[in-house]
Amino acid sequence: METFTNIIGGAAVASASTRTVPVFNPATGEQSGELALSTAAELDAAVQAAVKALPAWANTPPLKRARFMFRFKELLEANADRIARAISAEHGKTHDDALGELQRGVEVVEFCCGIPHLLKGEFSRHVGPAIDTHSDRQPLGVCAGITPFNFPAMVPMWMYPVAIACGNTFVLKPSERDPGASMVIAELFREAGFPEGVLNVVHGDKEVVDAILTHPDIKAVSFVGSTPIAEYVYRTGTAHGKRVQALGGAKNHMVIMPDADMDKAADALMGAGYGSAGERCMAISVAVPVGEETADKLVETLAPRVSALKIGPSTDPDAEMGPLVTKQHMDKVLGYIETGVEEGAELVVDGRGFSLQGYENGYFVGGTLFDRVTTDMRIYKEEIFGPVLSVARAPDYEEAVRMVNEHEYGNGTAIFTRDGDAARTFADQIEVGMVGINVPIPVPVAYHSFGGWKRSLFGDHSIYGPEGVHFYTRLKTVTTRWPDGIKSGAAFAFPTMN
Ligand code: NAD
Repeated sequence: METFTNIIGGAAVASASTRTVPVFNPATGEQSGELALSTAAELDAAVQAAVKALPAWANTPPLKRARFMFRFKELLEANADRIARAISAEHGKTHDDALGELQRGVEVVEFCCGIPHLLKGEFSRHVGPAIDTHSDRQPLGVCAGITPFNFPAMVPMWMYPVAIACGNTFVLKPSERDPGASMVIAELFREAGFPEGVLNVVHGDKEVVDAILTHPDIKAVSFVGSTPIAEYVYRTGTAHGKRVQALGGAKNHMVIMPDADMDKAADALMGAGYGSAGERCMAISVAVPVGEETADKLVETLAPRVSALKIGPSTDPDAEMGPLVTKQHMDKVLGYIETGVEEGAELVVDGRGFSLQGYENGYFVGGTLFDRVTTDMRIYKEEIFGPVLSVARAPDYEEAVRMVNEHEYGNGTAIFTRDGDAARTFADQIEVGMVGINVPIPVPVAYHSFGGWKRSLFGDHSIYGPEGVHFYTRLKTVTTRWPDGIKSGAAFAFPTMN
């Protein structure tokens, strides 16, 4: 049975906590590990290690920091298979999907290799007589990250590479459901030569999160997870004087216009709805066909594909999706399917009762498709986070846009159409942070930034990319005059150029 240590000041330190949680292999339902839930005192030890490492790291030239990042990137690539296996073993996603998640994380590290350029400030000569002004982005200090189960490698890498490249030190609290990938990656981080204490890892639950949110030495907190916790983290962290970005849940709609290529739209929905068993914050969980004819064609095209989904453990190279992360989550998703039926939605493909020979105790749910879902239903309003796609028919384009705009979440959305005018208007009018035009999962590349609107993001900064650099730094503006330009005599009026 695997156990997991904290990483504090470069050393593996076993938690002394008596509170533990089991970690499972979701494909078999067997317990694979046990995780101790660290205490506030253990979090404090990690923060102190980060405080100690801070002055030297903040004063390390950005070019040198970039060189550590280059080495880290190479190690991640060389160990991609091992990391992907660690992800799948506890999360359940297919091997290819795990490699894809890792690649997206590596791209953030690649972005950070350009940190000298990203931290370059601005300079204005002659803002007054012999006066120049320059601005500079300086690190905040110790930063912390709290991450969800669904991307155990990528989401932490949305945070600490950027924070650390900017000259901060970091404490990561990974999801307690799949902590293994963080351990493998932290080991590679150390191998890349980063000084001790620059990255610390503390496992735990609410106790550690609360200790992070109230710790006086932590200056900024990045959170990714469900909306209720994101809101709690934002409110508590900001009340304790911290800069907080808290990314929450989602219900992403894909609008299918009557002129869309139906085969391509259906392919896109299969990947975006059922990839990773729907456990993605950018998964499409609502398809909105415009017009009855489009809707009938869509459901007719989708149904056989959903029924034919290849479901299996991550070790099966043919599997298109794997199990859900825990039994508790599987039961929640099955409960939503039950709710949908009770609410009167039309169950076109029923994923309940799915069983795989040799994996009867795994947390598998078959692909599920609902039609005629309406906006008052719980399965429309709430995030299910499973392989359940709802078709919510819209009579016209205006109604489709209204549905998306009135939903409480605003993470991602997509439109499939051949009409440039409709696409442009959609991108303009839609109240969602990330929009795809014939792109079902518009997760921005590493040199742009990721963030939703409405109750999908609390705080003023999106994550990674240029917004990440801004989040993890503060601006200083220096105005300089050398003695030659200084006239004798005190001036009491506010300084202007007049
Ligand atoms: P979660 O909110 O249960 O957990 C996220 C983190 O918060 C974990 O580290 C967990 O230990 C901690 N936590 C849980 N309960 C807490 C509490 N009561 N007090 C303090 N901390 C607590 O989320 P999850 O189930 O791990 O992840 C799935 C959710 O994350 C979905 O809602 C998904 O949409 C969202 N998500 C959002 C994005 C995004 O970019 N917006 C990305 C990935 C996942």
